[in-house]
Amino acid sequence: MSILGNLLTPEDCAKCQFCCSFRRCSLWETPVFSRDEIDKLQSKYAGVKFKQVKDGAYMIDVDDRYKTDDSEEEVFCAFNKGRGCIMDEDKKFECSAWPFRVMRKDGELVIAYCKDCRVFAKKSLEEIQSVLDNGLDEKLADYAKKFPPYIRDYRENYRVMKTLGKE
Ligand code: SF4
Ligand code: SF4
Repeated sequence: MSILGNLLTPEDCAKCQFCCSFRRCSLWETPVFSRDEIDKLQSKYAGVKFKQVKDGAYMIDVDDRYKTDDSEEEVFCAFNKGRGCIMDEDKKFECSAWPFRVMRKDGELVIAYCKDCRVFAKKSLEEIQSVLDNGLDEKLADYAKKFPPYIRDYRENYRVMKTLGKE
């Protein structure tokens, strides 16, 4: 079972793929990698490019995949060949935990989920909260502590479920 329990199935995501394709304005949502992770991945996934976004943190570089200037144009993540993510056991925790994220809001860290996830939109807040309370909250907080580049600034299309306190 996925770390999101019964909230999402692999079949749900294979049908949807919404969060594995990006307009330019949503590239901040692409997963962040450490240098060590990239060194391991590059031999296995030839052709995937990365770019440094801050010290020790890299994002997938899909800039040259856009074919127009249309801000609504979407391109798949380089790990999605059109039928879902090909990373399998290499998939980042960040991707496995999405639509949950650890975010910075008003000087504190919070756990929030993206309201744009089409399957989460049909779930009750109680169902979502119970998966968090079953240990996912600790996993998210631990991961954010271990790899701070994962933490993103809060955006309005996220719903805060838990406050973790000061960073
Ligand atoms: S938006 Fe939600 S349902 Fe769609 S692929 Fe992403 S996590 Fe899965
Ligand atoms: S790495 Fe995989 S799960 Fe993550 S955004 Fe890319 S295709 Fe989607």
